[in-house]
Amino acid sequence: MTRREEFTRWMLKHSNRSKNTIDKYAAAVVTISKELTKYSNTTIDIYSINDSMSIDSIKQIYLKIDVLREKDERGNRMYTSALEWYKKYLKEAEFISNIAKEQPSEYSVKHIKKLKGEFKIKDGMKYWNRDRSIVDKIIYIKNNECEYDNTHRYFISKATNKNYVEGHHLIQMQFQDMFEYSLDVESNIVSVCLVCHKILHLGRLEDKIKIIEKLYNLREHELKSSGLDIRLDELIELYK
Ligand SMILES: [Zn+2]
Ligand SMILES: [Zn+2]
Repeated sequence: MTRREEFTRWMLKHSNRSKNTIDKYAAAVVTISKELTKYSNTTIDIYSINDSMSIDSIKQIYLKIDVLREKDERGNRMYTSALEWYKKYLKEAEFISNIAKEQPSEYSVKHIKKLKGEFKIKDGMKYWNRDRSIVDKIIYIKNNECEYDNTHRYFISKATNKNYVEGHHLIQMQFQDMFEYSLDVESNIVSVCLVCHKILHLGRLEDKIKIIEKLYNLREHELKSSGLDIRLDELIELYK
């Protein structure tokens, strides 16, 4: 598959744009390459660029050339939008190849025991610090799906352009004192849709139990590896 085809495919999956618009964007990348080659006297082939950061420089060069900037403005910024989408595509490709290489990348998941973090005391309550990047990592790895039911798709997030999900600590942070190791670990964070998440916090116990059971079965071994020994009935107890 050529880069152009890959890019088209990726946009079909992630951009919510019509096939017609997507084809225009894919063609726009070729047009920009040709025009920049013409105006800058150096051969520029955007589809052979692999790092997303270079796309910013391409865009800057493009916008400095008056005829091209005006053409982009007349065309509802189709050309610069195409570059933005191509940059997003490259970014994700870089991200995936980092995972595949399994370098000591921050995205490989290890279910290890982690020492408890810091906490603050406010109104006599302990608030344990959380590492937001762990939630982001789990959501990415779980493909922005609700782990209770992957058909739960309510809306597309503006920030990620993917199904909106939230991270939830299966053993909730307020129970940290009951455990020797940190609860703020990959093993204990699940990706759930907003409705399942609200049920887990605000629902009736009988509705919570169905979700807890499924999530517990998915994480039982990982929780143990992270030093979080808990039986299903004990976990349910914590949701009463
Ligand atoms: Zn939660
Ligand atoms: Zn759900």
